[in-house]
Amino acid sequence: MLGPDRFAPRLSGLPLAELEASGIRGLILDLDNTLVCWGESEIAEEHLAWVRSAQERGFRLVMLSNNFSDRVTEIAQRMGIPFVANACKPLPLGFLRALRTLQLPRRHVAVVGDQLFTDVLGGKLCGLYTILTEPLEANDHPITNVFRFFERLMLPQRR
Ligand SMILES: [Mg+2]
Repeated sequence: MLGPDRFAPRLSGLPLAELEASGIRGLILDLDNTLVCWGESEIAEEHLAWVRSAQERGFRLVMLSNNFSDRVTEIAQRMGIPFVANACKPLPLGFLRALRTLQLPRRHVAVVGDQLFTDVLGGKLCGLYTILTEPLEANDHPITNVFRFFERLMLPQRR
């Protein structure tokens, strides 16, 4: 139930051609430690470039974050991506809102995120393809750090 369908070291290392070939047309992207470092607003150039090329290839993107600050809005607007904040991942409600935004059947949608117990579990609960990335940095919310401990126990093959 909990294993991701795919691992990727970083969001920007995820080959868009491969996703396309496997039928993926839409992506639900996590924000903190997937797209930007935790609590920061600076987006790395490689991630900006990856998002741009995904958009150019016709992928539909939506950002799904448990964070509810203005930062989510600001980053999403800067990248030209719709967003669902305050998502309460892994609960399905936020994922369902994100799916409605994408307007794609579930089999064409993948979730990309750095956390097993929010991004991957939530995606799985909704029947979506799930991709687990490495967190951009070790710094994270204190509660997340507790979950990371269990992630390491459950996914010794992650690295
Ligand atoms: Mg995250």
